Amino acid sequence: MKGLLLIFFTLSTSLASQVGSLAERAPIKLLTEVQEFMQEGRYDRAEKQLKSASLSDPHVLRLLVELTQREGRRDEAQSYSRRLLSLYQSGQLNTSEDIGQAAYAAWQLSLWQDANRIFIEAAQVQPVSVSLFVDWGNLYLKKYNAAEAELIFRDGIQAMGQPTSEFFRWGVDAAYVGLAQALKGQFRPGATAALAKALDLNPNNLQAYAFNTSLAIEDKNWQEAQEWIEKGLKKNKLFLPLLELECAYEYFRGEVQAFEKLQQRVLKINPNDGDLFETLGDLANRKRLLEEAAEFYREALQRNPRQESARASLGIALLRLGKEEEGKRILEVAYANDPFNIWTVNTLRLLDSFDRFVRFETPHFRMKLHEKEAVALKPYVAELAERSLKTLEQKYNHQVSGKYVFEMYPDHEDFAVRTMGLPGLGALGATFGRIVAMDSPSARPRGEFHWGSTLWHELAHVVTLSLSNGKVPRWFTEGISMMEERQAGEGWGDYLNVGFVQAYKDDLLLPLKDLNSGFERPESGQALTIAYFQAGWICEFLVSGYGFESIAAMLEAFGQGLSTEEVFQQVLGASVEEIDGQFRQKMEETLKPLLSKLEAPEHFSLVHLFPGGVGQEGEGEAGLETDLDTLLQAWQAAPENYFLNLRLGTQLKTAGRQQEAIPYLEKALEILPTQAARGSPYDILTQIYEETGQVDKLVEVRQRWWRAAPLFPENAHRIASLLSDRDQPQEAAKYLEEVMYVDPLQPETHQKLGDLYLQFSETEKAVREYTVFLSLSPVDGAAAHYRLAQALFESGDRQGARNHVLLSLEIAPAYPEAQKLLLKLVRQ
Ligand SMILES: [Zn+2]
Repeated sequence: MKGLLLIFFTLSTSLASQVGSLAERAPIKLLTEVQEFMQEGRYDRAEKQLKSASLSDPHVLRLLVELTQREGRRDEAQSYSRRLLSLYQSGQLNTSEDIGQAAYAAWQLSLWQDANRIFIEAAQVQPVSVSLFVDWGNLYLKKYNAAEAELIFRDGIQAMGQPTSEFFRWGVDAAYVGLAQALKGQFRPGATAALAKALDLNPNNLQAYAFNTSLAIEDKNWQEAQEWIEKGLKKNKLFLPLLELECAYEYFRGEVQAFEKLQQRVLKINPNDGDLFETLGDLANRKRLLEEAAEFYREALQRNPRQESARASLGIALLRLGKEEEGKRILEVAYANDPFNIWTVNTLRLLDSFDRFVRFETPHFRMKLHEKEAVALKPYVAELAERSLKTLEQKYNHQVSGKYVFEMYPDHEDFAVRTMGLPGLGALGATFGRIVAMDSPSARPRGEFHWGSTLWHELAHVVTLSLSNGKVPRWFTEGISMMEERQAGEGWGDYLNVGFVQAYKDDLLLPLKDLNSGFERPESGQALTIAYFQAGWICEFLVSGYGFESIAAMLEAFGQGLSTEEVFQQVLGASVEEIDGQFRQKMEETLKPLLSKLEAPEHFSLVHLFPGGVGQEGEGEAGLETDLDTLLQAWQAAPENYFLNLRLGTQLKTAGRQQEAIPYLEKALEILPTQAARGSPYDILTQIYEETGQVDKLVEVRQRWWRAAPLFPENAHRIASLLSDRDQPQEAAKYLEEVMYVDPLQPETHQKLGDLYLQFSETEKAVREYTVFLSLSPVDGAAAHYRLAQALFESGDRQGARNHVLLSLEIAPAYPEAQKLLLKLVRQ
C-alpha cells in the first residue's frame, strides 16, 4: 500500500512540475530581486518572494534549498532538492545553467557521484555558464580535491561570456574566490591576487570578505580581520559565514565571553550549524591546536551528524594526536559515508601502508621505520632522537610530557599525506600534535639530505611547541629550529649562501611583523627558503643581543596567549618594529661588505656564467665557455668579485691550467666560505688536487668542504681511507660515523666502520655495524656473517658468534677464516 502511494506521489509531482516548468518559469526580475534580498541579509523576504513564484523553476528551488539549509531546516532543503532533481530526471532541464542546478541538488542529497556526472553533462551544453563551474568547483573543494577544483574554476573564468538574458546564481567574481581557495588549499601562491580580482569585479562579494577574514585570522592580523568582518556585516548583518568567522575571531583572540555571545547568535539562526564548529576546527587545525580542533569537529558532528567532512577531519586530527585506533575507526565511518573525500582516502591508504612499518619504542618515542630500512636506520635514529630531545630539554629547561610518535617515510608522498592540510609543511620533516614525521634517507637523492639535521630541527619543534602550549608563531619556532640545527653538529643546518645575499640585495626579505606569512603563504619555494634562513638569523641575533634566556622567556610568554607585540615588549622591552630595525642593522653590517663582491660582474650576466644557476648543482662546471682573456680583463677590473674568481678558476682548471686556477678559487672561498654546494670552489679545488695527485692538499680541502657542508659522502670516505692508511683508525671512524647522518644505507660504509672499530677494540659498536651491514644484503654474505661472528666473539657473545660463523660456512663451506674461528669457538 505504502509503495503505491509513493509511486502516485512521485508521478503527480513530476507531472505537476512538467506542466509548471512549461507554463510558469519565474521571471528573471523576481530571481534577481531575491538574490539582492539575500545579498542584503533580508532572507525572510527572499523566501516569501520565492514561495510566491513557481515551484517548478529550477532557480527558485535552488535558492530555496540555500535558504532552508542556511537555517538548518534539513528536511525542507532535502525536499526542494528532490523536486529539483526530479525536474532533471523528467528531462525538463535543457540549458547548461538549469542542468547545473540539478547537479547542485544531487550534491545536497549527498549523491556526489551523480552530482559530478550531471555537472559534466551541463558543461557540454553550449553556451556554458560560469555559475555552473562555480558550483562544480565548490563540490571539489568540499572533497579536498583542490587541484581539480582549481582547473574547474579556471575553466569557469575562461567561459566568462554567459548570456545576459538568463538568470545566473554566480558571476565570474565567484569563480575567482573559488580559485583563491583552491590555490590556498594547495599552498600555492596567487590566492591573494585572485581575491583582489574577485573584489575588483564585484566589491560586494561577501564570500571574498569571508575568505579574507579567515586568512587574517590565520595570520593573527586581528585588526585586518576585524575590518573585513565589519565591512562585510555592514552589507549583510546576517551573512552566516562571516558571523561564524567572527566567532572564530573572538575565540582565537581569547575573548571567551564575546565568543560565547556570538556563538549563541549564530546558533539562533541555525541550531544545527555544523559549519560553525568545522570552521573553528579547521582554523585550530591550521594553527596546529589539534586538541581543540578535535573538540570542535566533535561538536560539528553533534550539531549535524551528516557533516562528513568534519568527521574525516576529526579522524585525521586524532591520528595526529597519536590516537591511532579511534582515528582509524572514525575515518572508516567517514569513508563509508563519503568515499569521495580525498583526505579520507589518502589517510586510510597511509594507515594500510603502516603494515609494512616496523614499530619499536625508545624512552620518549614510539617509532615507525619502513621494513626495508628499519634495521639499518634504527640504531642511529633512536640514538639521535633521544640525544637531541635530551639536549634540547635541558637547554630550554622544559620536559615534554608523554611519548611522541616518530615516523620516517621512504616515499615522500606518504609523508605528504601525513602533513596534508597543514600549511607550509611540505619540506623534509614536520612536527604536529604528537607526531614527528619526516622523509627517510632513501626518499631523497644521496648527498642532498642531511636527515640528522632535519631530525634535530623537528625535535626542537617538539620542545618549543610544548613549552609554548602550541602557541608559538611559525616564524619563531622555525627560527629556533634553524638555530638549533646549526648547533647540533659541525656544518649542520643552513649557512649564508649566494641566494640569500641576493635576496637581501633585491630587498626580498619580509619585515619581521609579516614574516609569518612567508611560511604560511610563501610566494615561491625560494621565498620559503629565504624566510627560514631569515627566521634562524633573527633568533641568533636575539640570543647574541638579549641572551639565550630571552628565547625561552618568549616561548613561555607566547604560551600564555600574549600577542607577538606584547611578547616583544614584555621580554625584550622593545617593539617588533624596533627589534626588526636592530636586526636589519646587524644584517647590513654583515652583508654590506659582501654585496659588491657578489654583484653580477659588468658585461656578464650570471645566467651566462652559470647557466645552471648560482648555488645550484653544477654551478661552476656547467658555465658556457667564455674566452679566458675576456674573463681575465673583467677580473682585473674587479678582482674581488666572487663570480669572476669562481668562473676563472673553473675555466682555467678545464683548460688544464690547474695550478693557475687555485688562487682564484681560494679567493672565492675567502669571500664566501659557506657556499659549499656542488660546483662551489671546494668542489673545483677537490677536482684539481685529485687530478694533480696532491694528497695532502686534497685531504685538507675535502676536510674544509666536509666541515662546511657534511653532505657529500665521498668527501668523508676519501678522508677516512687516507686517515686509515695513516694508521689513524679512530679519526677515520669519526668521519664514517658522520656519514651515517647523510647516507646510511650503503653496506660498504658499515663494513668499513665495523673494521675500524675492531682495530681499536670498540667491539660492541663493531657488532652494531656488522649487523647493519648484514641487513643491507651485502654481495658477499659469507664474509658478512663471518665479520659479525668475529665481532660477537670479541665482545664475548660466543653463542652469537657461533650462530653466525655457521651461517657463514653454510654459504661458503670452505671459507678458511670462518673455519678457524669455528675451531676456536669449539675448543675454548
Ligand atoms: Zn620546521
